[in-house]
Parts: sequence; C-alpha cells; structure tokens
Amino acid sequence: MKVFKFGGASVKDTAGVKNIVKVLKSVGFEKTLVVISAMGKSTNALEEIIKQYFNDKTKTPQGLIELKAYHLKIIEDLFKENRVEVCSVVNELFEELHGFIRLNKSPDYSYVYDQVVSFGELLSTTIIHHYIVNQGIDCCWLDARNCIKTDDYYRAANLDWDATLTNVKKQVGNASLVITQGFIGSNSNNFTTTLGREGSDYSAAIFGYALNAESVTIWKDVPGILNADPRVFEETQLLHQISYREAIELAFYGASVIHPKTLQPLQRKEIPLFVKSFENPLDDGTSVSKGKTLEPHVPCYIVKKDQVLIQLSSIDFSFIVEENISYIFSLLHEYQMPVELIQNSAITFSVCVTNKYRRLQELVLVLRSRFNVEVIEGVDLFTIRHFDIKATQYIEKTGKEVLLEQRTSETAQFVLRA
Ligand code: ASP
Ligand code: MG
Repeated sequence: MKVFKFGGASVKDTAGVKNIVKVLKSVGFEKTLVVISAMGKSTNALEEIIKQYFNDKTKTPQGLIELKAYHLKIIEDLFKENRVEVCSVVNELFEELHGFIRLNKSPDYSYVYDQVVSFGELLSTTIIHHYIVNQGIDCCWLDARNCIKTDDYYRAANLDWDATLTNVKKQVGNASLVITQGFIGSNSNNFTTTLGREGSDYSAAIFGYALNAESVTIWKDVPGILNADPRVFEETQLLHQISYREAIELAFYGASVIHPKTLQPLQRKEIPLFVKSFENPLDDGTSVSKGKTLEPHVPCYIVKKDQVLIQLSSIDFSFIVEENISYIFSLLHEYQMPVELIQNSAITFSVCVTNKYRRLQELVLVLRSRFNVEVIEGVDLFTIRHFDIKATQYIEKTGKEVLLEQRTSETAQFVLRA
C-alpha cells in the first residue's frame, strides 16, 4: 500500500481537485490511500465560525453561509450531470454542522472546536471522492474517525496506537483506492477529536505506519524540501535526500519541513517519506529516508522571526549556577515559552524564546524579583545547519547586529536585531 497526502492549498479550487486525478493517473493509484485536508483556508474559516458562535449563540454564524457558498461554487464548477446529487450530500453535511451548532449545550470550547472544525475535511473528501468516481475511477470514502482513535484531549489529541492499528487494518482491508480525511479522529466515546493544526501530515504517517506502507508521499506546490524558505531567501536548492534524523533536526530548528511527529512513526518502520510537486508529479522531489544525511550536502538556512531574547544576570554578581538555571527553566515551562537557544557565562544567562501565548510581561515580572533582566523583543533567530564560511558570511551581509552567536560542529545560530 502507498499513502498520499494532499494539503489544503492543493485542493483550494476546482483546478486543484482536477489535478488530484491528474496526479493519480500519472503516478498510478493501485493500492493507494489518499489523505486530504480541508479545502484552501476552510479550517481558518471554521475557526472563525466557532468564535462567532461563542460570541453570540443565538445567531447563525455569518461565516457558515460563506463557507457553504465556497464549497457549492467548487461543486458547480466540477460537476454537471450529478451536480444535484453532490449538492444534496454536501447540503446534508452543512445541515449536520448547523444542527450541532443549534443544539450544542457544551460550554467546552475545545470540544466544540473539534466537532465543528472537522467538517472541513469531511466536506473536502466528500466532494473529491465524488469527483474521482465521476472520472470513472473506482474508489471508496473512508471516515478517518473510524480508524484514528485518540484520547479526549480536544484540539491536540494523542493517539491510541493499539486501537488505531486494529481499526485501520479492519477498515482499509484490501480496498484499492481509498479517500480519507487528515487531521481528524475520535475518542473512545466516538466524539470527534483533532490532532492539532496542520495535523494531516501526521495522519498520513499514522496510516502509513498502520498499513506498513511502502511509502508516504506529501504532494506540495513546491518541488520538494528546499535548503531555505524561498519566501525569505533568494537562492534555494532542492534537497534530494534527507535522513530521518536530519529531517527531525531541521524541524526542531524551525524549518517548516515536516513536523517531527510525522517523522517518528515513519522512522520506526523505515518507511520513506517523499515530498513532491503536484504540478510535476513524475519529478523525484525529496526523499526522507534511511541513508545519507543530506544530499546535496549544502548549508540549510532556517529563520524564526519575532523571537524574544532574555538576558538575565545575578543582582549581586554571584554565579548563575544550576539552581538558578533550573528555576529559570521551571518558569519558562510554567509560562509556556518554547526555548529556542540558551547560553550562559559566569554571571549571565541568555535565552531566546518564542512568546507563544503572549505571557512575556508576566514572566519578566517574576524574573525581575531575582535577576537583572534585559529583554529584546522582535529579534530574528537564524540557524544554519552544515554551515560553511559562505553561509556565515551571509549573516554579516544582512548588516544586522548579532546579539548572540553559538556554534556546534554542525549548527551555527545567530540572534539578530531585526
Ligand atoms: N486542515 C487542517 C489545518 O488546516 C489540517 C491540515 O491542513 O493539515 O490545520
Ligand atoms: Mg489545512
């Protein structure tokens, strides 16, 4: 079995849906399970609908009407003879969603969120399944919630591997082409759960693992994984091969490669992950698999913007020792600040963090009771994996002030004043 994943951007409009069939026809679709995300920005739209609902539960959220119009427009462009039939199936889904919103009594935001937001994937896969069948291709629609079993941690549910493995085997069986949803699952009471934003890649990996797939392919609007984000860097190079370990390292430093959660199950069974262009499906793209660390072996640039550099020093010039450091870390944990980089000297301790939940001010207030605190907000964190002279010269050329620098044999990191 092979697993394919198409993200929201690849199915944002009629052309995108048609292109899925083109991809399937050009690479073959024997024994393939296709995981699909919500169309375009539907998940964001659904998040907005949930906000509107919680603001005023007496009204039908305005966003719902727009979301329906968006999907109906795609159907109108995709279907001719059986348009009425597809419209009625999609209308039923919207009825179900609207019904949930009308009747819901739960004040639990996260629970409501998952029940609502999951409709993005249910809609996209329903429409795409009908379209593929219309093209004369035999395929079945699978409700991922009958496969992916999780705990009750709504919005970021944790997988129940045992139940999931059993269910996937039972549900997928010997089917040839299967269309299913990314991102969604269900808990032991069969309430819908989700795996966290951008969770469809992870879904694909879970299916890949459960099916002992020969490979998992993520189809994207780029030729594969590049050595730098093309939105930030002018010159980029396609990486042909990346080892699992290297891909996890890159993801750790913030490369929007593939989420480490996606790589872990694949790595365990050494299932190769391909990242390929849905525009040129026959091109090689990138392979994340066992083997060479990086091919070509070039520096990889990762930039994380809008970071915060916190510099702490002891008030009485005493050393910053283990006890202080453990106290600082416990606070960073308490205030949910992901730590990106740390450096310490005798009397200072520097840490670069993401102000993820906007709790910086609170944290700084507490820190001030024990340290001299200097905070620089809005800094850029540059990471260069496999750096060379040219790569580090790049930092000089930005002309930005280097606030902190750290090198290991494989990685150079720079905190720059933006
Ligand atoms: N539709 C979900 C999201 O936008 C899941 C995904 O796209 O991976 O976050
Ligand atoms: Mg998406």
